[in-house]
Amino acid sequence: MSAALPAPVRRPADPLLSVVVPAYQESAVIGDFVKALQDRLGAMAMRWEIVVVDDGSRDGTASLALAAGRSAAVRVVRLSRNFGKEAALSAGLSLARGDAVIAMDCDFQHPLETLPEFVARWREGYDMVYGVRMEPLAEPWSKRTLRRLFHRHIGRDDRIELPMGAGDFRLLDRKAVDALARFPERERMMKGLFALLGFQQIAVPYRQAERTAGASSFGLRRVARLATTGITSFSALPLQAFGVAGVAVSAAAFLYAAWIVFERLFLGVAVGGFATLAAGLMIFGGLQMLSVAVLGAYVSRIYREVKARPLFIVERIDEAGTVPAPIGDGTPVARERQP
Ligand code: UDP
Ligand code: MG
Repeated sequence: MSAALPAPVRRPADPLLSVVVPAYQESAVIGDFVKALQDRLGAMAMRWEIVVVDDGSRDGTASLALAAGRSAAVRVVRLSRNFGKEAALSAGLSLARGDAVIAMDCDFQHPLETLPEFVARWREGYDMVYGVRMEPLAEPWSKRTLRRLFHRHIGRDDRIELPMGAGDFRLLDRKAVDALARFPERERMMKGLFALLGFQQIAVPYRQAERTAGASSFGLRRVARLATTGITSFSALPLQAFGVAGVAVSAAAFLYAAWIVFERLFLGVAVGGFATLAAGLMIFGGLQMLSVAVLGAYVSRIYREVKARPLFIVERIDEAGTVPAPIGDGTPVARERQP
C-alpha cells in the first residue's frame, strides 16, 4: 500500500479488461446492471469482457444476465449450487482472461463511474487498485469497535494490514490474479487474501450507494461466519489468548490457595465452604469449555481444508448472443471445462 508512484511498467498495448460479477438471487437488478456495465465499458475505449457468476440462484438470474448481454463478450457462468460469494468470486477470477480483472457487485453499490479510475491507476503501474468506502457505515459503535478490532488483529501473524472500508470492489493485474490462484485454502476471506498478495497497491475512494433493489444476502449469521473464517485463517491470537488466560487463572488459584493456608494456620479462620467452591468450579468450567470451543474452531477449519473439496463446481458457461432461444429449452449451448 504505497502512495508513491510505482516504477514504470509496461502494460499490454491493447489490453483486455475483465469484469467479474458474482450474483445470487439478483433477478431484480442483474439485467439493468449488465446493460449499464456494457455501456460504461463501451465508453472506455478498450477491449473488455464480462463474467457473471451465477452462484446457484433459483430466480432466473443467469437467464436475465444472458438476455441483457449484447455479445459474446458477456459470459454467464453457472455454479451447480450456492457456494457463497467468496467462492463465486474465485470462480470468476479463474475464468477471467483479462490483463486486468475488476471484481464488483451487481447491486449498483459499487459505482460504475469508478471503473475508469481503476483502469487509469492500473495503467500507471499499480497491480492492485482497491475501492475504499468514503463515508463510514452507519452502524452502532459496538459493531464499529468490533470491526476495528477485527481489522487490527487479523493480519498480525502475517504482518499485513487490512485497510478499513476496503472490500471486494477492486482491480487486479493478471500477475495478482495468478498469484491468488496459488492460494489453496477452501475457506476464504477474499479481502484478507488480497491483502496477503502484496504488489503495488493503491486505494481509490468511492461513495457506496444504497442497494437499488433486491435484498442483501449478508445477514448477521453470514457476517459472523465470514469473520470467524477471517480470524481462524489469519490469526492464532485466540489460541494464544487462552494460554495467557490459563497462566493468569493458575496464578490466581495458586495465590488463593496460599492465602487459605495462611488464614488457617495464622489467623485460625475455618476454611470457607460451598460458595467459593461452586464459584471456582463454574469459572473454570466455563473457561475450559470456551477454550475447547476456540480449539474446535481451528480443528474444524483444519478438517475442511484437509478434505480439499473443490471450491466451486461449474455447471455450465454460456456466451450472450450465441444462444438464440431462452435458456433451458434444450438448445445446445457451448460448454467449457472447469480449469
Ligand atoms: N452474492 C453471491 N453469493 C452469495 C451471496 C451474495 O454471489 O451467496 C453476491 C451478490 O449477488 C452481490 C454480492 O455478492 O453481487 C454482494 O452481496 P450483497 O449485496 O448481498 O452483500 P452486501 O452488499 O450487503 O455486503
Ligand atoms: Mg450489496
